[in-house]
Amino acid sequence: MATQWDFGIDLIQSLEIPDPFQTFVAKKYANAKGYVHDFFTGEWSYKCLTCKEDMSAPSRKIMTKIRLYHSRNECTGGY
Ligand SMILES: [Zn+2]
Repeated sequence: MATQWDFGIDLIQSLEIPDPFQTFVAKKYANAKGYVHDFFTGEWSYKCLTCKEDMSAPSRKIMTKIRLYHSRNECTGGY
C-alpha cells in the first residue's frame, strides 16, 4: 500500500532525475568536441589533436572508446 510519504518520494525523484541526466549529456557532448559525423555513411571520425591521426567508428560511443584507447595507449596525448 502506497502511503502519502511514498508518493512524495516518487514525485521528488521524477522531478530531480532529469537534471543530473542533462548535466551528464552536456558533459558527454563536451567530451565529443572535435568529432565529425558523416551523415551519409553514418560514421564518426576524429582527428587526434596531438598526433593528427585520423580515426573512425560506427557510433559516437565506439568513437569515444577508440579515442580514449588511442590517447591512453598510443600517443598518450593530453595525459
Ligand atoms: Zn594521437
